Amino acid sequence: MKNSSIRFAAFLSALGLTTSLGFAQAPPGRAAAPGAAAPGAASDPAADALAATLARIRDAAMKDDWAYQRLADLCDKIGPRLSGSAGAEAAVAQVTAALRDAGLSVTLQPTQVPHWVRGEELADIIDYPGRPAGIIQHMHLTTLGGSVATPPAGLTAEVLVVHSFDELKARADQARGKIVVYDVPYNEELAVNGHAGTAYGQGVQYRFAGASAAARVGGVAALVRTVGGADYRLPHTGAMGYQDGVAKIPTAALSAEDAMWLTRLAAQGTVKVHLKLSPQTLPDVESHNVIADWPGREKPDEVVIVSGHLDSWDLAQGAIDDGAGVSSAMGAIEVLKSLGLHARRTVRFVAWMDEEHGGSGSKAYFKANAASLNLHAAAIESDEGAGRPLGISAHVLPESLQDLKPLITALQPLGATVLEHSDVGTGADVDPLDEAGIPTLSPLVDTRKYFDYHHSPADTLDKIRPDDIKAQVAVLAMMAYYLAERTQLLPRLTVSTQLH
Ligand SMILES: [Zn+2]
Repeated sequence: MKNSSIRFAAFLSALGLTTSLGFAQAPPGRAAAPGAAAPGAASDPAADALAATLARIRDAAMKDDWAYQRLADLCDKIGPRLSGSAGAEAAVAQVTAALRDAGLSVTLQPTQVPHWVRGEELADIIDYPGRPAGIIQHMHLTTLGGSVATPPAGLTAEVLVVHSFDELKARADQARGKIVVYDVPYNEELAVNGHAGTAYGQGVQYRFAGASAAARVGGVAALVRTVGGADYRLPHTGAMGYQDGVAKIPTAALSAEDAMWLTRLAAQGTVKVHLKLSPQTLPDVESHNVIADWPGREKPDEVVIVSGHLDSWDLAQGAIDDGAGVSSAMGAIEVLKSLGLHARRTVRFVAWMDEEHGGSGSKAYFKANAASLNLHAAAIESDEGAGRPLGISAHVLPESLQDLKPLITALQPLGATVLEHSDVGTGADVDPLDEAGIPTLSPLVDTRKYFDYHHSPADTLDKIRPDDIKAQVAVLAMMAYYLAERTQLLPRLTVSTQLH
């Protein structure tokens, strides 16, 4: 997922944690009928018909467990789906078959993806002040995606523990020949207050850029405290990147507990670590985005994308990241199909390949559609987990938010009441479209626990409530249908891709 945050008060209000903040929320089951005209207002037959259709979609989605079954298939029968792996290819085949079985026509869009494989990973603390003779202690770590290996026998060095890039800069003269350890805590207060994306963003810069920053000052390896919330000594993996022109040094994430331990030991004197990582970067391989169109009845060339990403990290089942999003997006198109509802424009499901390790699927889609961006009305991506849907987030012109009010009204019975204006694109895979001016949207979900499991060995199916998947399918299907059905399109974010 990418960084995002939602307003604190609106977040609490949507969760029903407070009733005194002035945010309107109908109690579950007591919402006004979507589209019901205010007393005395003139009724609008077209708006009423659209509201009734949205209610039908919502009710059908809440009774349908097809998407949850697809998620269970992805998680339990395939599991990890890192780009370039056999699991990723099995997922392409499984999703294609499921969509075809549901009566949808599928296209596979080729994309070249990286193929990085984890190897052995070991980190021992071999010396520290007060070490009893013969004691060597093991840490829990996971190599970061894209990291180079240590020498085959491993490397042994003193550690330099820092808590920020600024501290590394200030202590640059102490870094030469050392293993640089970034002990930067995940801000759990931000997360419980509804700003999990912001907390993640603060930590993830060290995971992504920590190795090159350490190498620039002579470091020989970088160990980064896990970016996540739970305290079960789990290391969380994720992508890292090397800066051009800087030596490539090996890098891994430590569990939060092990990073804190190194901080305590290093405060007492010299600490030495033996580190061995043996990942490999193999040649790129061909993989695919999976695309299924549910054709529009009047303007089939114009599309609204509803999507999630199919690849996942290699440590677990990729249930919340992003099995939930991709399965819910599949569910959205399946619900429209099962109701026989063709909107004015085409609703296009996309299962993106390689969000986690470079976004090559998203780039390939953009390239293949460079000449038809003007036919893209909007793009929706779900990549913030399977928490309860609280509303929607939209990167649209601020004045366009009011155009989404009928949609939010229709979502109210689900408890999804927040309409958030996002200042940035709403998903990593739809960002290229967003940058070209196409409005992007996503379901706004409860992310308070998302980073407890994200990219860790604990991202498994049991973390997900089937009813939350049904609700997410409802939100996605209603968003996609609404945007594809409206006569008026949402205005472009820039003028460059104005729809004719
Ligand atoms: Zn994701």
